[in-house]
Amino acid sequence: MVSRVIPVEPFDLVIFGGTGDLARRKILPALFRRFRGGQMPAGARIIGTARGGLDTVGYRSLVAEALHEFSGEGSGAEINAFLQRVSYVTVDAAGDTGWLKLREPIEEEQGPRVRLFYFSVRPRLFGGLAERIYRHGMARGARIVVEKPFGKDLDTARELNQMLAAYFYESQIYRIDHYLGKETVQNLMAIRFGNMLFEPLWNSQYVDHIQITVAETVDVAGREAYYDRAGAMRDMMQNHLMQLLCLIAMEPPAKFDSDAVRDEKLKVIRALDPVQPHHIVRGQFEGDAAAGLKSYRESVGNPRSATESYVALKAHISNWRWAGTPFYLRTGKRLVARSSVINVMFKDAPHSIFGEDAGRHANLLSIRLQPDEGITLKVTIKEPGQGGMRLVDVPLDMSFAEALGQEGSHPADAYERLIMDVIRGNQTLFMRGDEVEAAWAWTDPVIEGWTARGDVPKPYVSASTGPDDADLLMRRDGREWRGIRP
Ligand code: NAD
Repeated sequence: MVSRVIPVEPFDLVIFGGTGDLARRKILPALFRRFRGGQMPAGARIIGTARGGLDTVGYRSLVAEALHEFSGEGSGAEINAFLQRVSYVTVDAAGDTGWLKLREPIEEEQGPRVRLFYFSVRPRLFGGLAERIYRHGMARGARIVVEKPFGKDLDTARELNQMLAAYFYESQIYRIDHYLGKETVQNLMAIRFGNMLFEPLWNSQYVDHIQITVAETVDVAGREAYYDRAGAMRDMMQNHLMQLLCLIAMEPPAKFDSDAVRDEKLKVIRALDPVQPHHIVRGQFEGDAAAGLKSYRESVGNPRSATESYVALKAHISNWRWAGTPFYLRTGKRLVARSSVINVMFKDAPHSIFGEDAGRHANLLSIRLQPDEGITLKVTIKEPGQGGMRLVDVPLDMSFAEALGQEGSHPADAYERLIMDVIRGNQTLFMRGDEVEAAWAWTDPVIEGWTARGDVPKPYVSASTGPDDADLLMRRDGREWRGIRP
C-alpha cells in the first residue's frame, strides 16, 4: 500500500532553541524526512535560532551532524540539498538581540507563505518569545508550536495560556503532545468511527474495563532535576495517558474537525471523577548493584525524594457510556519493557453454552502504540483436533508493518506528522488550552492529596512491571494487568 504525498504550502519555520536536544533529535530529522518524502515545497525555509553565536555555516554542520546521529537515512547529496533550506540567526528569547535580523528573511517578499515559530525552549521563555514576535510585527497569521510541559499545575497552565493568548488567537497556538501524532492514535479514531463493528459494543454494557499502559525502560538520565520536581503524574499521566484516555472514551464527534474532536475530548476530562486515594499506587525504582544501576533517589541525587517514577490509578468516567467501567492507567520508568498499549477488555459472554470445561473467554482488543504499532483482536474459537468442544483464544493480529508493507514498517514519526499538520493548519491532533486546564484540574487534587498525606512511593525492582501494590489494585477488583511485553 503506497501513501500519497501531497506537498504542503511554502513555509518559513523558525525554531527557537534550534541547537537544543529536541531540535537535533526530533524536529530537524522529522523535517529532513519530509523533505526526502517530497513533501517540502521549493522555497520552504528553516531558520534555526539560539542564543549562542553560530552562523549559518556553523549551524548547517550542526544540523548535518544531528541528521547523521538521529536520522541515519539519506545520502550526502540529499542532506546537502536539505541544508540549502536551512539558515541561522542568533536570537535572544529573553532579550532584544537578533530580532531585527530575524525579521529580514521573513519580511522578504516571497508571496503567500505559512509562518511558524517553534518554541523549543524552556517554558519560562514562552511569554517573552510571544511578546517579542508580536512586538516585531511577526505574529499576524503566524502559528506557534509549544512544547510540553504546559505548566506544572492548573494555575501555571492558566498563566501560560493567558500569556500566549495576549498575543495569539487560540487558532494560532499548537500545543504538541507527540503521543497524538502516532499512527495508531489516529487509527484509534479510524477503527472506532470508520467501522460499524466496534462502536455498538464500546460502552459499559460490553466493556469490562480498559487498561492503558505506557511503560518505559529508560530512567531519568539527563532530566534529573526536572523529573524530580515533576514525577510520573505530571510528566506522563496528565498529558499522554490522559490524551489516550480521551480518544478511547470520547463520543463520536459530528465530524473529524479540530474543534469537534477537541470538544468531545474535553467532555471526557470533565466527566472524570476525582480519584480515590486507595485507587492510586506510586512507585520508585530501586537500584541494581549487579547491573550497575542506580536507584531513583541516587539517580536524582536526592536521598529523601518522594517523587514517583511510577504511577498507577483507577479512573471512572461519570457519563452514560462509561458509568461502572473502570479505566486502569499506569506508567513508569525503568520497567521490564518499552511498551505503550491500550487494552479494551470485553465482558464474558453472559452464558456459556459449552459448559464449565470450556472455560471462560472474553474478547480483547489490544492497540499497540509502540513498539510495533498495530492492533490485535482476541477471539474465541474451537480448539482444533479431536478433543471435544474446547475453546481457545486466538489473536487476529494486524501489525501495521506487515499489513501496510513499506509505509507501515516506517510509519511517519509523530513529529513529522505533527509539524506537517501545523503547516496545513490542522489543529485536530493538538491540545486546546481548555483541555490542558481541565486535565490539570483533575490532576492537581491527586497530587495535593498524596502530598498532604505524606505518601511515600513504594519501591519496585528495576526491569519489573512496577510495585506489587499496582497488582493488588487490580486483584482487589478480581482483575489483572496484561503483561508488559516489548
Ligand atoms: P535544551 O536545553 O537541549 O535546548 C534549549 C535550547 O534553547 C538551546 O538551543 C538554547 O540555545 C536555547 N536557549 C536557551 N536560552 C535561550 C535564550 N535566552 N534565547 C534563545 N535561545 C535560548 O532543551 P530541549 O531538551 O531541546 O527542550 C526544549 C523544550 O522542549 C523544553 O521546553 C522541553 O521541556 C521540551 N521538550 C523536550 C523534549 C526532549 O526530548 N528533549 C521532549 C519534550 C519536550
